[in-house]
Amino acid sequence: MTFVVTRLCRDCKDMGCVKVCPRDCILEHRPASGSSDLPNQLFIDPDECIDCNACVPECPWEAIYPDADVPPELEPDVALNAIVLKRREEFGSQRSANRPALTWKLSSATRSAGD
Ligand code: SF4
Ligand code: SF4
Repeated sequence: MTFVVTRLCRDCKDMGCVKVCPRDCILEHRPASGSSDLPNQLFIDPDECIDCNACVPECPWEAIYPDADVPPELEPDVALNAIVLKRREEFGSQRSANRPALTWKLSSATRSAGD
């Protein structure tokens, strides 16, 4: 099992989740060049997450779930988090580097279950 960050995270600047993760495995996408092709949200590295649950109560959007408990309408976000495994060099933690200003503006529609 691993925990996953769902699309309910998009555009959040709270970051309380990042501060409490003992594995520092809640990551942001930071491509070496160009803009990100991924949604403006955080991602959990499935290989590093130890299922401790510490991040869940810190998330005001209730965006984090154990992968087995992700609601059906958010199920595609499990695979979205798994992209970290294929493109690990593009991801980093805000704890180890300053996070650039979040500039992407997604419409409220992107938070909808149908996205
Ligand atoms: S997972 Fe929750 S607390 Fe963390 S950045 Fe996303 S919405 Fe904010
Ligand atoms: S469950 Fe624990 S190890 Fe996994 S992302 Fe959340 S705080 Fe980090």
